[in-house]
Order: sequence, then C-alpha cells, then structure tokens
Amino acid sequence: MAKILSGKELSEKLLIKQAEEVAQLKQKGIVPGLVVILVGEDPASQIYVRNKMRACEKVGIYSETIRLEENTSEEKLIEVIDRLNSDEKINGILVQLPLPRHIDDQNVLMRILPEKDVDGFHIANAGKLFTGQKSMLPCTPKGIMYMLDDAKIVFEGKNAVVIGRSNIVGKPIAMLLLNRNCTVTICHSRTQNLSEFTKHADILVAAVGKAKFVTADMVKKGAVVVDVGINRVDGKVVGDVDFEPVSEVAGYITPVPGGVGKMTISMLIQNTIEAAKA
Ligand code: NAD
Repeated sequence: MAKILSGKELSEKLLIKQAEEVAQLKQKGIVPGLVVILVGEDPASQIYVRNKMRACEKVGIYSETIRLEENTSEEKLIEVIDRLNSDEKINGILVQLPLPRHIDDQNVLMRILPEKDVDGFHIANAGKLFTGQKSMLPCTPKGIMYMLDDAKIVFEGKNAVVIGRSNIVGKPIAMLLLNRNCTVTICHSRTQNLSEFTKHADILVAAVGKAKFVTADMVKKGAVVVDVGINRVDGKVVGDVDFEPVSEVAGYITPVPGGVGKMTISMLIQNTIEAAKA
C-alpha cells in the first residue's frame, strides 16, 4: 500500500511556522499584505478565494478581496492593478482565474509587478524558472516540490512524467523536476500510447482535470503519484487518479482532497511572506 502524502497535515505544520514568521516581521513593522481580485461570480472561484482569505487570517497576513462585476472592462481591472502595484502596504497581488471571456488574461497578468506576482504567472517569473534562476514560483508546482522534499523523495536521475502542459501546473512542474535532475516527459491530450510513458515513471504527476484518469495499470510499482486534479463528481471532489487501485501499486500518493490543493494555499502564503521580506 502506498504511503499517503498528506498536504493537509503538512500545510498545518507549515502554518505554525508561517504564523511565527509573520509575528516576527510584524515586530519589525512589516505586515505582509495580499490582495485577491475576483471578477464575476464563478462559484468555484468564490470558494478558492474564501479559502485563501481564511489562510491569510490564520497566519496574520493582511488580506483583502476586491470584487469586481462580471462586466468590468480590462482597462478598469488594469487600473486596479496599477493602484495596487504602487501601494507599499501590498506585497502580493493575485487575480483569480478564470477571468470573464472579454478580458485577456495575459494582458492582465503581465501588468502585475513581477515582485508582487505571488501566483508566479508573470513571464518574468516564468522566464527565471525556465533559466534556473530564483523566482516567484507558481503555487501549485512549488507546493508539490515542497511535499516531495518533505517526504525525502529522491529526484536525481529519476524518470518523471507529467500529464498536462498548462502554464500554471504542467509546464512549471516539469521545469522544477528538470531543475532537480529528473529525466522529464511531458504528456498531453495529443500524446499517443500514454501508458507507455506513464508505466516508466518513477514520479508521475497528473494535472489533467479528468476524474479517475490515471488507472492502476498505468502506474509503475512503487512510483510517486501526485494528483493535482480537482474534479466535481456527484457533489464530491475527486482527483485525476483512481485513488484506491492506484494506492495498491504506487509507493507514495497524494490524496484529493487533502493533498496538493492544501499545499497550493500554503505556498501562496509563503510567496506573500517572501515578497514582504524582499
Ligand atoms: P488545463 O485544462 O489547463 O490542462 C489540462 C491538461 O491536460 C492539458 O495540457 C491537456 O493537454 C491535458 N490533457 C487533457 N486530456 C488529456 C488526455 N486524454 N491525455 C493526456 N493529457 C490530457 O488544466 P490545469 O489548469 O493544468 O489543471 C489541471 C487540473 O488540476 C484541473 O483539474 C484543475 O482543477 C486542477 N488544479 C488543481 C490545483 C490545486 O491546487 N490542486 C491547482 C491548479 C489546477
């Protein structure tokens, strides 16, 4: 049976450290501040934003949500970002995605100052990651690496397979694994014979967005299986990995819920603290 890598437990441990660090910063007169901008009424986004705000409160970070109407123009949203860019009290700015269709995500994300880009989506941060320089890392991939490091997973020379090539998960986690000397394969919707790749993975990351997509026959015995997926099935949240059968084969596995998602929020807090320190 696979060892379960609990993001819930790990994020709770980390939260205690983060709260201490925030308290120390406050003694020096620094209060880390995060603003989340939410445009429209997307129900999943509302939940994510609420969870982020709660985590900020727990560690003592100043946090604020700016809610804008669905029909807000791109210009108006950019004005809000410009104001926050020049607000010294605010260290982190996060625009909750997805944005309404009439707004160009990239125009908006590129407007956030890279040093306040706590989601790590700005091309300046992506470029630094690509070239192996220290940067603000996107929260989900950063959280995955934190979890695997905590479990003392060895990366050097291992075969890592990432399913999914999005800018927010697939590509950056592939780059982080490469930077740690894994041999990395990125699979995606046009990959043929997917299981031929996954069966050779010592580390398998699933970021697809399809419930139970990774089945036991696709997994190498003893592999580290990281499930990034968040899928709603009959009112329940499930990952991309068929958890029970895959647990029989894998050496390590992250559960959904209580896995990668928890670490994502922890890393948002971490990035905000790091931005405040910088
Ligand atoms: P996305 O839709 O941008 O990307 C999905 C990827 O899956 C694509 O690159 C696509 O090529 C690949 N894919 C689709 N069908 C495939 C197939 N049949 N075979 C192989 N690859 C296939 O999604 P995303 O933003 O990367 O998110 C992926 C999942 O992770 C979603 O469920 C999302 O909700 C979840 N997610 C979770 C967290 C978290 O904190 N846990 C954070 C971000 C995203």
